[in-house]
Amino acid sequence: MHLLEWRYLKGKTDLPSYDWNRSVAYAKERLKVSLGETLTNYALYALIVMWGVPTLIDEYLVLKIKAPLLLSGLLGASTALLFWLCSLPWTWINVFDVERTFGFSRVTKKTFFRDQAIKLILMSLVSFGGLGCFALLFKSPLWPLYLAIALILFEIVAMFILPFVIIPLFFKLTPLAQGEVAEKLENFLAEIGLKNSGIYVADASKRTLHSNAFVSGLGKAKKIVLFDTLLSSLTPDEACAVLGHELGHWISRHAIKRMGLLWTAQIILIFFAYIMFNTGFGQSFHAQSPQTFAVYAFLFLNMLVTLFFQPLILSVSRKQELEADLFAAKHLGGHQMTRALSKISTSNLGWLPSHPLYEMWYLTHPPICERIKALDNVS
Ligand SMILES: [Zn+2]
Repeated sequence: MHLLEWRYLKGKTDLPSYDWNRSVAYAKERLKVSLGETLTNYALYALIVMWGVPTLIDEYLVLKIKAPLLLSGLLGASTALLFWLCSLPWTWINVFDVERTFGFSRVTKKTFFRDQAIKLILMSLVSFGGLGCFALLFKSPLWPLYLAIALILFEIVAMFILPFVIIPLFFKLTPLAQGEVAEKLENFLAEIGLKNSGIYVADASKRTLHSNAFVSGLGKAKKIVLFDTLLSSLTPDEACAVLGHELGHWISRHAIKRMGLLWTAQIILIFFAYIMFNTGFGQSFHAQSPQTFAVYAFLFLNMLVTLFFQPLILSVSRKQELEADLFAAKHLGGHQMTRALSKISTSNLGWLPSHPLYEMWYLTHPPICERIKALDNVS
């Protein structure tokens, strides 16, 4: 897919507009980093399997630690550390080379290492808890059922705490100050019958000049977050259109629908894991313990997700983006939404479409021209 996208981008060079050429150059640099990271991950997968890394770590830990749950958890945390280490150089290149060259990144080295340390702690905690929990549930013959329930419960809790615990670790959120933007946004919320449970501004400009907005959380425990970069570059009407798009996701229950799809995929994958266990998949990798079986099964199933489930989940995501645009257009007018999208895409160098196959496997949003065409049809 990456090579197809590269060839596609190559055909887009030598175009008359300076910004267009800059967009192609930016897309190519990002693609190189993405390809590098993907290949590194595949190499890591191959080495882990060839050398039997989980079995080696497990055999080492078993000599030092007697508590079985702690042992499983530590194997999870060690695997998370391996993946974090492999992604670290690519994240560095992306932030300090690509994003800085194109004038987007403002991240200092101190912030970078702080963010990466938080990422490592979160990844380790989730993997520690995940593998410890798996080893515990595995004692029951009904482990696939309990695992599916535990996973769904964890994801619901994660959705609830995301806006209150995780997002504030990376951004300082302040309630939107009174003014023309706040007034317009509140009027819009009242018009569509939603209570204002809090519109916040994130200090994203400390890290990036890219602009964005999102609604995070579940039920009443939600936060509407606008990047300060968005507010500084859009007019109040355009900012309102962006909020309209985010609320379109909210009102149409897009997050819940995507979660439903994800849960279905996870249940299918757990069923696969169950078959793998019963057909000797673990033994063929010399996986003696439930936790080592879980790591090998996870690596294998993760590849299946990328190959088969990712296009399906992303096609739903792209459809939802168009629905959210149309929601905003219906309430605020198509022109407003088109203007906001155009401005954001120009400042993010985001006008370029992708190769259809690359789009199918990797893009969460439809190409910007397609979104504007859909808005034109409504107007
Ligand atoms: Zn959206």
